[in-house]
Amino acid sequence: MRMDNWVLLGKRLLENRPQKQVEIGPNQVKVKISHVLLSNYDAFCYTGFKPIRYPKTIGRFAIGIVVETGEACYGLEKGARVYLNAVLPCGKCFACKSGNRYECENVQLAGDDFDGFLRDFVVCDYSNVSVIPESVDDMHALCIEHVALAENIYDNLNLSAGGRVGIIGGGFLGSVLAQVAMYHKLVPIVIDNYPQNIERLNRSGVFYAYPADDSLTANINNATSGECCDAVIYTTCCKLPSSVPASVVARRKDMVFAGFSMINVNLDMSFLFEKNLKVYAVTDGFGYIETAINMLVHEAIDLSNFEKNVLTEYDLAALLSARADAAAHASEMTVLKLIL
Ligand SMILES: [Zn+2]
Repeated sequence: MRMDNWVLLGKRLLENRPQKQVEIGPNQVKVKISHVLLSNYDAFCYTGFKPIRYPKTIGRFAIGIVVETGEACYGLEKGARVYLNAVLPCGKCFACKSGNRYECENVQLAGDDFDGFLRDFVVCDYSNVSVIPESVDDMHALCIEHVALAENIYDNLNLSAGGRVGIIGGGFLGSVLAQVAMYHKLVPIVIDNYPQNIERLNRSGVFYAYPADDSLTANINNATSGECCDAVIYTTCCKLPSSVPASVVARRKDMVFAGFSMINVNLDMSFLFEKNLKVYAVTDGFGYIETAINMLVHEAIDLSNFEKNVLTEYDLAALLSARADAAAHASEMTVLKLIL
């Protein structure tokens, strides 16, 4: 019988280990994992570029089917399709202990602080899974945290309708950010140097998509009537220089570093000084999962323009290596299907 539980023991050191069967508690569910979306985050955990606490099962973005429920699991039934929350409150800090778990000072990440989801089953507290509505298909459900990350950003930016958001990097996350911006009646302006990304953005209704070349300033001026962007989001795997976001945003605005993982970028401070920018990072969708699911029900995200590779047989090490090498422009969805 096929078995999956891919544990990282060290840099580029994966082992498929049998999982121990465990009794479930009254507040726990057992979930059979059905699909895992491979990501740059997983790839960088694998290569060691992102240091993690070994040993850990890999896999941040996953969905599955509830196969067992404890007697105190309200509103969850056997057979329910669920999203596995990849970011959890620590339960120990002051905020957690005062009942403000969304203010947690020390959130825990799947694949780093606790085991990720590339395994046959997960036993966890029932509050750590979210039921996926029937109208949201598996591919969209795998993007729940990407949409939640976007919501986390736009909620903080609090721009009014018609506001212009520069998005640096038009890969998978950049595309989701652009679509969520349009859902909120904002105007995304995406900068990317891969022609195939620009074409895909145009096909999915993003009108302003430009390369970072000599005509960038002129293009931004045309798109914003000379006023520049009201905020700019730099996707942390895009490899474009940090002078690009600073050059498209107006004075005293927000510059957000967004992503689940990052490629080292040298921050050019002179631009921040020139424009008095407010700079911060958003690296998860913690607290926005239910909002994201609701948006997917309302068809906020169109994935039809993305290439999808759904694999039932795979060489995991090779996939993760390739993903790490292509991290700056990878925009296809590579999904491992565990229930055959
Ligand atoms: Zn906490």
